[in-house]
Amino acid sequence: MTSAATDEPQPLPDYAPVPDLALGPALNDHGFYVGRVQRNLFWVTDGTYQCAFLATRDGVALFDAPPTIGHNLRRAVDEITAAEGVPNTVTHLVYSHHHADHAGAADLFGDDVVRIGHVETRRLLLRDNDPTRPAPEVTFEDRYTLQVGGERVELAFHGPNHSPDNIFIHFPDHDALMLIDIVNIGWVPIYNLNLSEDVPGYLDAPAQALSYPWTHYIGGHLGRLGTRDDIALHQRYIADIVDSCRAALGSVDPTPYFVRYGANVWAAVGGYLDAVTAKAAAPIIAQYTGVLAAADVPAFTTSTTFTILQSMRLDLGAGSQVHP
Ligand SMILES: [Zn+2]
Repeated sequence: MTSAATDEPQPLPDYAPVPDLALGPALNDHGFYVGRVQRNLFWVTDGTYQCAFLATRDGVALFDAPPTIGHNLRRAVDEITAAEGVPNTVTHLVYSHHHADHAGAADLFGDDVVRIGHVETRRLLLRDNDPTRPAPEVTFEDRYTLQVGGERVELAFHGPNHSPDNIFIHFPDHDALMLIDIVNIGWVPIYNLNLSEDVPGYLDAPAQALSYPWTHYIGGHLGRLGTRDDIALHQRYIADIVDSCRAALGSVDPTPYFVRYGANVWAAVGGYLDAVTAKAAAPIIAQYTGVLAAADVPAFTTSTTFTILQSMRLDLGAGSQVHP
């Protein structure tokens, strides 16, 4: 069914300006930026996605291959390896996790690439059967040390978080940590806590990241690298949401919703949980607008608050009452 009313464009809302601290370096004419993290570790961004590579004497080891960067990855590798006087052949590709938005250009580097990932990444990629993301042949359960061109990279799995297979990629000799889709540096998480599957695992991941020694953080999103202070700011945002959820759970009375909707218990549950979520999210949006970019985009802080609230109820038992 169509009508003039439903087809009418709605006015788009205004939001607070993006804080300067949320922005990264300018992109080149191809639409990417490539920069040195430390020594021969480099990072690439298109302003929204990030990945990294080591330019070694024996070839290039790539860490993720987001399709939005796509063929610009080759351009970035060629530019850097020419300047550094090292071979531009991509010999290794490490998957941070199986998601297509970080791995969908993995097929651009030929069949001779050694692909490395968690065992669960292999299982999920075999399941997904996507030709742009060939399953890794080299897998590990807990830890794996990648040695390439005289460099060392430590891969570790600390349990599910954003995805069931998301790994920590530590560059001990480059003072860097790569951990994707946990902290969006300078920005709030997108919908539902960065679309995370294991909420307690997601909430623990920043502290696990801080337990490693590093100065440079490659988070996988937006325009710049992170610092330890950026992780701490993200932790405060999340901790404030948890506190606000607890307060809202203790202060919103479900009774009027059940009285009003009677036999339609789902209407009552929906009305009550929406009210708790709105009450919990409101002070967070007010507090973090202008501090973290897009804190005032309601779909993000509100859906993240809803996700945390549900985990507190279902994983931790918060607000549940035993029938007398
Ligand atoms: Zn992901």
